[in-house]
Amino acid sequence: MRILVVNCGSSSLKFKLYDLTAAETPALLAEGLVEEIGREKSRFTYKSHKSPNKLVLEVVAKDHTQAVSAMKDALLHPEHGLFKDKIEVDAVGHRVVHGGEKFSNSALVTPGVRAAIEECIAIAPLHNPPNLAGITACETIFPGLPQVAVFDTAFHQTMPPHVFLYGLPYEQYEKFHIRKYGFHGTSHEYVARRCAELMKKDFDKLRIITCHMGNGSSITAVKNGKSFDTSMGLTPLEGVVMGTRTGDMDPAVVLYIMDRQKLSPQEMNTLLNSKSGVKGISGISNDMRQIMEKAEAGNNRAQLALDIFVYRIVKHIGAYVAAMGGADAIVFTGGIGENATTIRAKILEPLAFLGAEIDQVRNASDAKEKIVTRDGSRIAVWVVPTNEELSIAQKTKTIIESQVSAG
Ligand code: ADP
Repeated sequence: MRILVVNCGSSSLKFKLYDLTAAETPALLAEGLVEEIGREKSRFTYKSHKSPNKLVLEVVAKDHTQAVSAMKDALLHPEHGLFKDKIEVDAVGHRVVHGGEKFSNSALVTPGVRAAIEECIAIAPLHNPPNLAGITACETIFPGLPQVAVFDTAFHQTMPPHVFLYGLPYEQYEKFHIRKYGFHGTSHEYVARRCAELMKKDFDKLRIITCHMGNGSSITAVKNGKSFDTSMGLTPLEGVVMGTRTGDMDPAVVLYIMDRQKLSPQEMNTLLNSKSGVKGISGISNDMRQIMEKAEAGNNRAQLALDIFVYRIVKHIGAYVAAMGGADAIVFTGGIGENATTIRAKILEPLAFLGAEIDQVRNASDAKEKIVTRDGSRIAVWVVPTNEELSIAQKTKTIIESQVSAG
């Protein structure tokens, strides 16, 4: 079965085409990225097993439909494409950021599903509109092809009410659905399952803390195979300090700044989401490699940003160990979690008392997937590269197969 995975942002479209015929050995056939959608000219990068050297092209993609068209043209290209006259795929899997309370699983896109995604625009105004635009574009360019929505929030729908409710008047939840939802669910589930496989243990009997650390970062407590708690909330702003987001903060700060500095909700939103976090604290960048370099060179604010980033993650891990009554494993993933050896070491240092004993040689090894604690460490710590696109493809395949067997 061939599955095309599409991930649309406001000005970008990322895609990967998988052959999942052999479930154990999925094959990535092609991948590409259209950037700067909406400008006069957009940048298109494309790679396939027929043209392993990355092609960089200029295309016209004034909207997501034209971007999908560019993707189709590349896949049908006489030299670099994979197909002759027709794109032969079985379904398209779309990353959809917010599924609200309606989706605890992926779903075949129907008018009802589309309406539910639209309803979530109010709480995910940056993410759900481009996700929907990607679905509409694929429906237009590939009429009749099944489209599946895979939600970032779905895995976290198992959180119990005493975990997902805020200390607000209950009507705020009843009337306006204000609660913790959590994000990066596809990644947290994927790396937690892989960790259980690597440990040769039953996923449903483990307590795993997954740390997805990239531009956006979130920590999840996975208890007996289910998301029990997660650091992001109604939106991805809650939780640990991120590249450009504040993470947890006294909500009164927001009111105080808006009042004293006369900021509009829009301006405040930009301050909280795009100007804060590691970038805002350091005054340098949200790129962790750059922050580490500057901190190493003696820049105090880069060091402070790094210390705050690490501290907040340690605090969340500690809280989740307590919340689950212990932990069997911690998993690091995402650009920072997978690559930043020293940040992993710094996070684990204060956690040694819990029984997470780092092995410095293992931590510094070049292996992509690895255990970084000593043999016999009470908590096993793993690095597992995330693969959200592959996971979306697999979930899409499951939905398509269930439709076939039901129909
Ligand atoms: P996104 O959340 O956009 O998917 P990624 O998961 O790719 O982002 O993570 C991007 C972050 O990972 C950036 O801050 C980048 O600096 C950081 N990163 C990537 N490689 C390294 C590395 N070798 N050391 C430290 N940080 C790294």
